[in-house]
Amino acid sequence: MRKLLSSYEGIVGSAVLGQLRQLGEKLAGASIVHVNSTREGGGVAEILDWMVPLMNDAGLSASWEVIHGEPRFFEITKAFHNGLQGHTVPLTMKDWKIYEDVNEKNFERLRPALEEANFVVIHDPQPAGLLKLCDRRKGKWIWRAHIDISRPFRPVWKGLRPFVEKYDASIFSMAEFAQLLPHPQFLVPPSIDPLSEKNRELEPSEIEAVRTEFGLDPSRPLIVQVSRFDRFKDPVGVIAAYRLVRKVAPVQLVLAGGGATDDPEGKAVLEDVQEAAGNDPDIHVLLLPSGAHRTINALQRLADVIVQKSTREGFGLTVTEGMWKGKPVVGGDTGGIRLQVVNHHTGFLVNTPEGAAHRIRYFLHNRNRIDEMGSIAREVVRENFLLTRHLRDYLTLMLVMAKDPRERLLKV
Ligand code: UDP
Repeated sequence: MRKLLSSYEGIVGSAVLGQLRQLGEKLAGASIVHVNSTREGGGVAEILDWMVPLMNDAGLSASWEVIHGEPRFFEITKAFHNGLQGHTVPLTMKDWKIYEDVNEKNFERLRPALEEANFVVIHDPQPAGLLKLCDRRKGKWIWRAHIDISRPFRPVWKGLRPFVEKYDASIFSMAEFAQLLPHPQFLVPPSIDPLSEKNRELEPSEIEAVRTEFGLDPSRPLIVQVSRFDRFKDPVGVIAAYRLVRKVAPVQLVLAGGGATDDPEGKAVLEDVQEAAGNDPDIHVLLLPSGAHRTINALQRLADVIVQKSTREGFGLTVTEGMWKGKPVVGGDTGGIRLQVVNHHTGFLVNTPEGAAHRIRYFLHNRNRIDEMGSIAREVVRENFLLTRHLRDYLTLMLVMAKDPRERLLKV
C-alpha cells in the first residue's frame, strides 16, 4: 500500500511534515525522474518504492524508470559493482561496448522523459551511461552511488569515471565512500521506513508468539544479532562474547540470518557458526526466509541488547532498526555503525569479543541504562535516519541545484 506524507505525522510530528511541504512548494511541479536497474529486490528499489510516491505527495512530478538489458549486461554491471568495491574483476573492451550499447538502447526508449526532466537521478553504475547520450537535456543530472567506491579496482573506476564526472552532482551515503569528482558531492545517509513490516509497532501477542516459536525463555536476558552469515559481520565473535557473558549471567543469544544460500562463502560461515554454537541450547541460530520482516521486527523487540559486531560495515541498517525499537546497540567500531552508535549514549562501539562482552555485561547489570540509552537511540533515529530526513535531503539538494542561484534566492 502506498503511504502518504500524512501517514508519518504521528511519528515525526507536524513540523517535519510542514518543512517537507514547504520544500515541496518551492519545487512545485518540478519533474524528477529516477532511473535504476530493477523494480524489485535490493535496497535501491526499496528506497524508490517509497520516495517516488512521497515526492509526488510533496508536490513534485516524480517518476521512476528502470533500464532493461540482457543477462550479459547485468553480469558486466555486477562486475562493475564488485570492482568498485575493490575486487579484481576481468573486463574487456567488448564488455564496455555492451555497457554503452545497452545504455543507448534504453536512452532511445526513455529519451522524452530524460530530455524534459528538471532533475534526473541516476542510481548506481548501471544507467550511468545515459547522461552522455542526452545532448538536449534541460535539467540537472545527479549520480547517486549507493555503494562504497572509495577503494575501487582501478581499471573499473578508470572506465566509469568519464561517464560519472559529467554529472552536475553526485550523492554518496557517507563521506568515507566517496571519490573525488569535479562537481558538488552531497552526503545522504540511508534511512528506514518506520511504517514498514520490519519496523512498525507490533501487537505484544505477535511478539510473544515469536518468542514461543523459537523457544526463547522470557525470564532470561536476550541478545540478538540480525545479519547475513558473512565473516565481516563476525557472528563467531558474537558467540565468543556470549560465552564470556554467560560466565556471569544466564543470557540467551539469537543469531538470525538468511536461509539456505547458494553463496558458498555464506554456507561456510554458517557452518563455522553452527560449529562454534555446538549444542548450547541457549544459542539460537535462525535461518529465516527472505520475507521474514515481521519475525525480525519481533526478535529485535524481544532483545535486551542488540549486537552488530561487524569488523567492516557499509551503513548497518540492522543497527538503525534496533535503535528505532528503543534498544541500545553494541556495535563494531567501523563504517556506518560509527555514524549511528553514539558511544556511551546510544550504545557502545567495540573492537573485540572481550569488549563486546564487557559492554553487554554492563547493560545486564545496569538495566536502567538499557532503557535510558535505548530511548536516546530511538530519538537519534527519529532525527537522523527515518525516510522523512532522507526525503528532506533530496528536496534540499534539488533546491540548491535548481537553476540559477539568484533566481532561486528570489523565489525563496
Ligand atoms: N535482513 C533480513 N534477513 C536476514 C538478514 C538481514 O531481512 O536474514 C535485513 C536486515 O533486517 C536489514 C538488511 O537485511 O534490513 C541488512 O542491511 P545491513 O545494512 O545491516 O547489512 P548488509 O546485509 O546490507 O551488509
